[in-house]
Formats: sequence, C-alpha cells, structure tokens
Amino acid sequence: MYRAPRGTQDILPQEQPYWRYVEEKAAEICCLYGYERIDLPMFEDAGLFTRGVGEGTDIIEKEMYVFEDRGGNSLALRPEGTASVCRAYLEHGMHNRPQPVKLYYIGPAFRYERPQAGRYRQHGHFGCEAIGDADPALDAEVIDMAWQFFVGLGLGLFTIVLNSIGCKKCRPEYLSLLKEHYSPHVDEVCADCKVRFQKNPLRLLDCKSPQCQPIADAAPKSIDHLCADCAEHYSDVKRYLSSLEIPFTDNPRLVRGFDYYTRTVFEVQPAGGGSQSALGGGGRYDVLIEELGGKPAPGIGFATGMERIILGLQKETVPVPSTPGPQLFIAYLGEEAGEAAIKLATTLRRNSTAVIMSTGSRSLKAQLRQANNLSVPRVVIIGEDEVKTGTVVLRDMTTSQQESIPVGKLLELLQ
Ligand code: AMP
Repeated sequence: MYRAPRGTQDILPQEQPYWRYVEEKAAEICCLYGYERIDLPMFEDAGLFTRGVGEGTDIIEKEMYVFEDRGGNSLALRPEGTASVCRAYLEHGMHNRPQPVKLYYIGPAFRYERPQAGRYRQHGHFGCEAIGDADPALDAEVIDMAWQFFVGLGLGLFTIVLNSIGCKKCRPEYLSLLKEHYSPHVDEVCADCKVRFQKNPLRLLDCKSPQCQPIADAAPKSIDHLCADCAEHYSDVKRYLSSLEIPFTDNPRLVRGFDYYTRTVFEVQPAGGGSQSALGGGGRYDVLIEELGGKPAPGIGFATGMERIILGLQKETVPVPSTPGPQLFIAYLGEEAGEAAIKLATTLRRNSTAVIMSTGSRSLKAQLRQANNLSVPRVVIIGEDEVKTGTVVLRDMTTSQQESIPVGKLLELLQ
C-alpha cells in the first residue's frame, strides 16, 4: 500500500476549516496593511536559493529538494518564499512601482528535515515581503502585523523575540570577534558547530546542543558591535515597537537560518517553546535584491508555518468556524422516482441549495441511515406515489416527523 511520503500529510476534510480560517485571517491582515497576493512557482532554478539563501546554510546544504529536469536544468522545490518574491520583483520590473512593494503568498514549502511534531518535509507557508524601503518604521510595521495576525487568530501564548545582526559593514568585524571567542573551544563544541565555525559562524549562536550553551551564552553580542547606522536603526525599530505597545524581548542569540538577513531579525515563539518550534520569523534583507542581480532595494518580511499555527489553535482550543455541509438529502424508491429525484436535485442545486443525492437501489432505511451519518438535518423522500402526485415527503431528521408537500412548495420552503 502506498502511503503519503514521510514528512508530508493529507489535509482531510475535517481539518479544512482550520486551514480556511488561517488563510482568511492571513488575507484579512494583509489587506489591512496593504499587501497584495502573489502566487509563485513551486519550483525554481536551484541557483536562486543557493545564491539567495546562502551556500553554507542547512537549508541549502542538507534540506533542499534538488532535481534535474528532462532538459538538464537544475531545479529545486522552493524551501521558502523570500528568494522567489525577490526574483519576481526583479523579473517584473517592480522597482518601477511605488516603493515599498508589498506582497504576500500562501503555499507549500519543502525541506528535507527530520519529521517530528510541527516539523514536516512539506509545510504550508504564509509569508509577506515589503521591498524597496529601509525605514525602521517598516520593520516595526511588519512586526506589528505579525503580532496582530497571531492575536487576530485568537492565539495568546506567544512572544516576539528580536535582535539585530548588523550589515555588510559591521558584521565582518563582529564575526571575527565571534570566531575569536569560539577558537579556544572548538574541541568542546558539537560536530555541527565545528562545521559552523568554519562555514557559518553566526549560526553558532543558534545551536541547541547542551554542551555548546555556555559558550554561546558567553559569546560577544552583535548588538554591542553594530555600526552607528545599524545601531540607530535598531534603536528606532524598538522605539516604534514600544510606542505601538508591541511587547518584545531582546535575544542577542537570535540569528536566522538564511544568509540574506541584515539588521533586524525576529521570531514569534510559542510561550515556553524555543526557536525550534517558532510559529513564525523574519527580518530585513537589504542586499538580497542586489545579490540576485538587481539595483539595490532593501527589503523586510516574515513567514509563518500553517501547521504550527493550527497546532497552536488546537492546543489553545480556539474555536474556528465550521463549514456547513448540505442541508438536504434526497432519498428515493424505484427507478421512476430515481429519475424524478435526479431532476429535483439538479433544480435545487441550480437554485443554490446544497443537496446530497442518494445513489443505487438501497432500502429507505439504509438511505435514512446514510443521511443520519452525514448529519443532514432534512431528507426528501420520493416514491412511486409522490411521482404520480407531484409531491415529496419531507422528513425532519431530528424529530423524525414527516409531511407530504407539493414539489413547488418544497422549492418555496427552501428559498
Ligand atoms: P523560516 O523560513 O525557516 O523562518 O520558517 C518560517 C516558519 O515556517 C517557521 O517559523 C515555522 O512556523 C514554519 N516552518 C519552517 N520549517 C518548517 C517545517 N519543516 N515544518 C513545519 N513548519 C515549518
């Protein structure tokens, strides 16, 4: 028997109300903040991510689904959305539009990760990007938007964690200080950190291994080594957030999994959970567009995982609106009645009444049992007599009461 590939899941009808709820809330918040929807291909030139996200990152080195198509092109299932949005910004000349260009997307992302609760190989991503403006007020607006999104969903147990990781100008010096701090400890750190030390020292701070914690905690902090511009930018972001009354915590160890981030980085973390289970995260990427071949255009964005949000909603027992199923079941007895039933079902559907039509030649009892199992509140029964007299029997499934009415009256009643 085939099963869904490891780390993927079917979203069954009973889970659909959660997905629709989150998607609708996402669209609502994006509209409030002036973001327009963009739909992006599910696969891109692999080079876009290698270049954009960065070669030394876990996502590129270990997690990307890369394949060669029949034309010999190296393609990758998208592991995230920012690089694709930036590619689209450049491809469609969006620098000619009023800046910042604000776009959001909803769709799957693919990462070859070790599956566990809240971590899948295909997950639903909702993200937004504002490209073309470096104003710290925009950073605060994006963080405010993330905050309002989670509050609007009805979630209460989360916090915003914030850091600034500097820019091209101040980061090299900070990285050498970080390496200096780690170099006497290279033998003590975990195997991953030994590699990070060589390839991606900023990620040393993100390590979860117990043996690396004291070393990471004692490491120099990027916020203490920002250039004057970055320091001012970060202090402005925090000032705006405070004036908007968005609660946040500084975390000097917050770095993110992609190389493109500059200055502000943030995460939405569930209360009591670490960054491993972040509900969402984002930050500024002021050189990504340039790295992808465009004219300089700073950007900022954030992304959240749909499954993690839904797990959070279920954990906090947030009620979500359910989808009403069909209100009417049509049962029939005999061939002639079957034909009349099909016609009636069609007429009702054309008049916007959702109907489940019985099929086959089962007993009335079996048909009523099916209607009951489907939780349909009312059943229309058509037999030979009803066909002759142009009537139907309308049965209330809660009270089991039934009455005979002309077909015309049924249509009126359902209007
Ligand atoms: P990232 O692009 O890594 O910052 O991820 C943004 C958000 O997507 C995270 O905060 C998670 O909510 C979600 N996410 C990332 N990776 C996964 C995954 N493998 N499974 C489920 N959700 C994920």
